[in-house]
Amino acid sequence: MSLRRLSPREYLVNLAGVLVSMPVYSRREWARRPDLDAFALRRARDMAVWAEAKVPIYRELYGNAGVQPNTIKTLDDFRRLPLMDKDSVRAGYPARSVAEGIDLRRCLLSTSSGSSGRMMTVPHLADRFWPYLVSGQRMLRWATADHYPFWYRQAYVYTSEYPLLRVPGLYPMKFIPTAADPERVLEALEALRPHILHTYPTVLRDLVALSPTRMSALHLRGASVGSELSTQSERDTWAEILGIRVCDEYSTEELGRVASQCPQGSYHLHEDVVLTEIVDEQGRPTSEVGEVVGTELHNHAMPFVRYRQGDLARISDEACSCGRHTRLLTDLVGRRNDGFLLRDGTKLSAGFLLDVSYRAILGLAEDMVSAYRFVQKNPDGAVFEVVAGTAWDERSAGLIKAALASELPPALAISVSLVPEISRSAGGKRSTVVRDFAQ
Ligand SMILES: [Zn+2]
Repeated sequence: MSLRRLSPREYLVNLAGVLVSMPVYSRREWARRPDLDAFALRRARDMAVWAEAKVPIYRELYGNAGVQPNTIKTLDDFRRLPLMDKDSVRAGYPARSVAEGIDLRRCLLSTSSGSSGRMMTVPHLADRFWPYLVSGQRMLRWATADHYPFWYRQAYVYTSEYPLLRVPGLYPMKFIPTAADPERVLEALEALRPHILHTYPTVLRDLVALSPTRMSALHLRGASVGSELSTQSERDTWAEILGIRVCDEYSTEELGRVASQCPQGSYHLHEDVVLTEIVDEQGRPTSEVGEVVGTELHNHAMPFVRYRQGDLARISDEACSCGRHTRLLTDLVGRRNDGFLLRDGTKLSAGFLLDVSYRAILGLAEDMVSAYRFVQKNPDGAVFEVVAGTAWDERSAGLIKAALASELPPALAISVSLVPEISRSAGGKRSTVVRDFAQ
């Protein structure tokens, strides 16, 4: 997301919010289930009441369905509210999706392209931004195995700067812009010597491909990746190379931070930030894999209530050995249209293709590849695009091709192609696995 900076007044209000709420949020992390449910229900109900009163698309949706959010008493009542979808929110922006009386000049506007490539703008009240900052601190604390002293330096390698609160000496953070050339990012990291790396998996993937030795020599204490897909086995490999934990997070532009990995590696829902549900194709609650539906509990500028996020996942009640009672997001299988689709109907998931790709790269000498992307161009063929590293030579393409072919169906013709750089979308995201043809 790309956001403007905070004004001095917004900064002070957020700073006060962070200082007051950080201990509350830290304690709530360990709350018992009934307390977590009661908190989420109260906030979600209030948000639904607010949305019905102030936001035309919800007023119309609830009016047509004959439901009244102010009569909600239980989570089952709440689940009877009709679902809101992406197209209605996007088509209604801003007049019918933003709460009446909200001045967009007082908001941080975050615009991104989702998995569909269509842009979505989400305003947040600029002086109510602290819940996102507090949940970010929580996420990084988990990535450092619950040890995140206030003096740890964070390297934040992203496409654009987050409007972070910088208090001198407190959780110092340095923004490093993503660059087409990973060497520049690595040099910036070597100059900064951060304790924590917070970035896209595509960035960490390139850095580790470029030089495992130099990455390991950074002596990081934790790393957090998000916004894009990475797999557990990739993260385990990175963790081993770097000698730390590499935690993933699941967040969306609309709902914010939905879940992130705890020190034990489980994806805990941030139940005090988003009320997350899973529904089946008919929109009914399910304990199986289904669509993620979320209610964001803080954004009064543009409410998202029982909002169909479109990703597929499962929620589990199983206990995590870390001792937190928040429910776990399991089987996050991502967007429906991810991965490759072959002519005979075979589907290769994006996660599997990421694993096959990084195994092919790790089999090479250091500095051979500095960035890569796997693009399916048609039902019969895919191109592995590579930005050459300094050690690239005439054998490299053949090695990559052979490694990929050994794990993929013969029906998929694979070629390796050198490209000058791999660019990001206007919204900042980059995918390492891309299906680039209409179904
Ligand atoms: Zn846990």
